Amino acid sequence: MVVSVVRMAEPLQSLREAIALCDGFARLRTHDRVLVKPNASYGLRVPHYGTTTTTTILEGLIRLLAERGCRDISIAEGSLEVLGCDTQKAFARTQIDKLAKRYGTKLIDLNRGPFQQEDLGGVKVQIAKAALETDFLINVPVLKTHYVTKVSLSFKNLKGCLSPASKNKFHVTKRLNHLIYLLNEVLRSDLTVIDGTYMLEAGPEIVLGTAHRKNLIIAGQDGFACDVVGATILGIDPSEVGYLREYAEAHGRSLSVDAIQIRGERDIDALREKLNWRADAERELLAPAGITGLSLPYPGESCCSKCYAMLGMSLVAFIKENSKRDFGDAAIYCGGELEPEADRQKTILYGNCATKKNSLRPHGAMTVKGCPPRLTDTLFALCKLLLSRPRALRVMPVALLKLAGAGVGIYNYKLPKWKTYESDMFEKRHFALSRRWPAHKDIAKGGAH
Ligand code: SF4
Repeated sequence: MVVSVVRMAEPLQSLREAIALCDGFARLRTHDRVLVKPNASYGLRVPHYGTTTTTTILEGLIRLLAERGCRDISIAEGSLEVLGCDTQKAFARTQIDKLAKRYGTKLIDLNRGPFQQEDLGGVKVQIAKAALETDFLINVPVLKTHYVTKVSLSFKNLKGCLSPASKNKFHVTKRLNHLIYLLNEVLRSDLTVIDGTYMLEAGPEIVLGTAHRKNLIIAGQDGFACDVVGATILGIDPSEVGYLREYAEAHGRSLSVDAIQIRGERDIDALREKLNWRADAERELLAPAGITGLSLPYPGESCCSKCYAMLGMSLVAFIKENSKRDFGDAAIYCGGELEPEADRQKTILYGNCATKKNSLRPHGAMTVKGCPPRLTDTLFALCKLLLSRPRALRVMPVALLKLAGAGVGIYNYKLPKWKTYESDMFEKRHFALSRRWPAHKDIAKGGAH
């Protein structure tokens, strides 16, 4: 197994080198239908560092494909449909839509199907036919950790090829790791390019997660080997990643990076970080706003990103109006695993999974139903449970107005910790089309280099 690890200097050249070192285009034929699957799962107006595949790497990849003579190229994603966002908005927020226009590439919203039903160990799921039927699948995840699966690299990125209902199913069946493993038996990446321009601690999103600059590309024809290398570099032992462990057992593969032939930067120890994978809402969100007496116990693998993203954004809006407050002894429970402590003074059971799990709800517990709950219902519950009535009546309209403003781009939430992203280490241009590189038609005339 060969995996190339390349420190990024000039992105196009580094990408070219990474793909050449692993012979990534060896099986690519010019007439192939090529499907490029980035991680553009979040279309929110928040910083994209470490959460989303950079447009720079995507553009580089499309250029290299065009240079090879490929003409049937699609970029495909099925983004989270929360807070008014969808795949189209996710494409627009990082200029992937303009990229497609510049290079004549198709855009596919994998959430819209058509789908083909597959049986994953007795669980029926819908997988986008575009991903199943493509000739050459290029998987372009981000180098990031994940609060449930520990890492989110090439294997986890293919979850974006499921229908929205099937994405939920992966969580509610409480077999997330097993199903990710089985999904990767059905869908095989022909080439994996892990975009390590940035990496993300306590991912997968930026409200609780923290991005760091890394400047690395990891590429290979074998997604498993790339994920083993990626996890090792993030400081996560691959044997602790459930779906990688299952895959290794099923295929007699080693989970050690030493079993992989590394080309390029061969000293993996020198690149190894020690990132936290577990998100901590109190440390990352509540404490910096001076909020005490409110906790979010770790929800485990039955809580999906939709509930977490909705709750995260609602809390961002709520704490904006209520910083430096003590809420006594309140807790919010998400997902289908947790049971609240009986002596808690204030409890919110958040989402249908938490409500169903605790159908005999503890005395005084408030439920917020939905899959995921609506933003207004979430804010209403937070205000009702945690604030006095007069204060709730003052805060609610202001918070809703700002959220509406954020939705249409006339108001921006800024968390104190996002100040870091104003430094030179974080470059907005990575999520925009390159101004320097010539257009697609010029590639044929030799203008791509
Ligand atoms: S209620 Fe929340 S955790 Fe449960 S399936 Fe729906 S979005 Fe996921």
